[in-house]
Amino acid sequence: MFNFHSEIALPLELMAMEESIKLEDKEVNADDIETGAFVEVMLLILSKAQKSNNSFSIKCYPYKGKTANEIGDEIAKKLFDEFKIIRKAPRLDTAQVITTCPKCGSNITEANDAGNGFCLDCTSEGLVK
Ligand SMILES: [Zn+2]
Repeated sequence: MFNFHSEIALPLELMAMEESIKLEDKEVNADDIETGAFVEVMLLILSKAQKSNNSFSIKCYPYKGKTANEIGDEIAKKLFDEFKIIRKAPRLDTAQVITTCPKCGSNITEANDAGNGFCLDCTSEGLVK
């Protein structure tokens, strides 16, 4: 029987500690992760490790601020598995500028390329389709 607290929240709490991730200036704890900070903590860890991943961020976006119950076991497990793979993968190239975002004008590199000609920020905020 899957248990979000022991299989996701506690391991993620440890990873957040390793990366010194803080939420509103407080240490991340497993209860926060279970009650709304799950996606946010994963994305903060990847960002701190300079491993932000475009397609993963987009996948996570609808679950921002959602509790473990709202996300559901299947999706939570899939997102967490993908997160662990990305965390182990090599860093993306943030130095090589591919182009600039036509919406906000920022440089697009491998690390923030949404794959639709726009940057990840504009795409994940739903500013472009
Ligand atoms: Zn943009």
